[in-house]
Amino acid sequence: MAPTDLCSVIVPVFNEEEVLPLLHERLTATLSRLGLDWEIVYVNDGSRDRSWSILEELQARDPHVVAISLSRNFGHQLAVSAGLDEARGDAIVFIDADLQDPPELIEQFVARWREGYDVAYGLREKRLGESIFKKVTAALFYRTIRKLTAVDIPADTGDFRIVSRRVADVLRQLPEKHRFIRGLVSWVGFRQIAVPYVRQARAAGETKYPLARMVKFAADALTSFSTAPLRLATTAGIAAAGIAFLYAAWAVYEKLFSGATIQGWASLFVLVALLGSAQLLALGIIGAYVGRIYEQIKDRPLYVIAEHRTSRLDALVQQAPPNEFRGTATASEARPDAK
Ligand code: UDP
Ligand code: MG
Repeated sequence: MAPTDLCSVIVPVFNEEEVLPLLHERLTATLSRLGLDWEIVYVNDGSRDRSWSILEELQARDPHVVAISLSRNFGHQLAVSAGLDEARGDAIVFIDADLQDPPELIEQFVARWREGYDVAYGLREKRLGESIFKKVTAALFYRTIRKLTAVDIPADTGDFRIVSRRVADVLRQLPEKHRFIRGLVSWVGFRQIAVPYVRQARAAGETKYPLARMVKFAADALTSFSTAPLRLATTAGIAAAGIAFLYAAWAVYEKLFSGATIQGWASLFVLVALLGSAQLLALGIIGAYVGRIYEQIKDRPLYVIAEHRTSRLDALVQQAPPNEFRGTATASEARPDAK
């Protein structure tokens, strides 16, 4: 008999104490039906509530659980990246902790993966329990990014998906610090398929993506996958130069042939103000890219692990080798207690 496949499920956790027990129960119920071995990699992303102690308890009584705690809050995408470095599965599932992504859908993901797909991603047909503002901005965001990038990033998807081992390995090799994971998965390619689902309301707690974080997330996505904003300055510059030329020609003509100097403080002021703001805007756009180059070049690890709990024997023999580009397990510890 062929050895059983291992499926890893990665769950980023930031202040999710209310949902963790139910999440774990539903994940376990689903995974145990699938005829494969599984591990659930919980990544505590600097929670300030009881999340970590709940995860420690889960790990102590369930040998399927690997629990990692980052040294502070690094953000959703980096928490998922930390989980990816840890996951040993032949297939790897990304899922949010808040039960907005129904764990039961993993069954369909695994079926697709068994059919030979490298990626099966959840496609949000409906989003329940989210504000109009979130829905509108999300819809706009996915459509803009699709327009501006050469990579085919499907609209209305999240990170909820399954990826094959080879996709995971490519993802781990990508050295970028600003990680827009769903875009990176599209970039990797191979055979990908959508699995439609209805996105539920949060089971408990509040969104960990307030407006400022959403803006940062969108900016990271845009700058990682498109240079169109940079070309915007060129386009605007050419248009402004054209208008300026016509305006100047008219001014000279008036001066030479009708002798009248154009008066008007107002027109001058408006022009100067307009050009000034256009220039600042263009500078800001360039700054966004330069800042990201700077952060990339500093080459700091993506995350730092504070604690690491597993009962997996292979992890005890050989701790994950620190990848050239990413997190190092500074104070990692592994407990050989459970079977
Ligand atoms: N999350 C995280 N670190 C953060 C913010 C969020 O690990 O800094 C996790 C969070 O616990 C959840 C997932 O990322 O499991 C998605 O966050 P959330 O549900 O708040 O986002 P939304 O669904 O509102 O977009
Ligand atoms: Mg959510």
